[in-house]
Amino acid sequence: MRVPILAGNWKMNKTVAEAIDLVRELRRLVLDVEDVEIVVCPSFVALASVSDALKGTKIKVGAQDMHWEEKGAFTGEVSPVMLKEACDYVIIGHSERRQYFGETDESVNRKVKAALAHGLTPIMAVGENLQQNEAGQTAEVVASQVRRGLAGIPAEQARAVVIAYEPVWAIGTGKAATAPGANSVVALSIRGPLAETYGEAVAQTIRVQYGGSATPANITEFMSMPDLDGALVGGASLKAGDYAEMVKLTAKAKTGR
Ligand code: PEP
Repeated sequence: MRVPILAGNWKMNKTVAEAIDLVRELRRLVLDVEDVEIVVCPSFVALASVSDALKGTKIKVGAQDMHWEEKGAFTGEVSPVMLKEACDYVIIGHSERRQYFGETDESVNRKVKAALAHGLTPIMAVGENLQQNEAGQTAEVVASQVRRGLAGIPAEQARAVVIAYEPVWAIGTGKAATAPGANSVVALSIRGPLAETYGEAVAQTIRVQYGGSATPANITEFMSMPDLDGALVGGASLKAGDYAEMVKLTAKAKTGR
């Protein structure tokens, strides 16, 4: 069985002090939750402090991006070696990186490979934008992002990757996809290409999250879908109470507890 995973993408929000307050509260609220992997992804500057505040708890920490090189003359960038000191996960290819910072499937692929090589779990984000959605291109866009993002990665490494299906038009808009709609994109355009490349058995072990205006009000519906294994959560992860509620509802939907 795939262990569900919720990751909170805080984006460019929370000072270090605010970040620590949030995780202290979250830590208390999810004490009893089992069988869900819980991740928070603060800004680079808050990573070390948040990791310290979460030592000894079940909540894991992730970064929101990274460079693929280990070190060198790349002003403003952060390497997988540096991240490994402070966290275990890294979001790669978020649509905001693709849209505003020139991220491409090729750079995503380099970053996913580098993350895996350094023992970080990549959360690789894919998803069609509104125009592509309206033009009926969702299936081909998502499948192509999956194939190109994972190009050259062998099956034993691909198993460790988490994929986040995030329709761009649903991110931060309050207009989430429908749960059956998201499930069908994941089944056909994510697990489909995964099965072609790695075989059905491996495709069934890879975890796929939904992302895009997921909230406590709609998470149960998403988590009742067979191909959705958790969520990448933006806005709702900035409030400890809401995020903890989503963690609990995910546990309930997936395990009945
Ligand atoms: C995200 O940024 O990955 C995201 C899904 O944001 P939101 O939940 O706010 O739509």
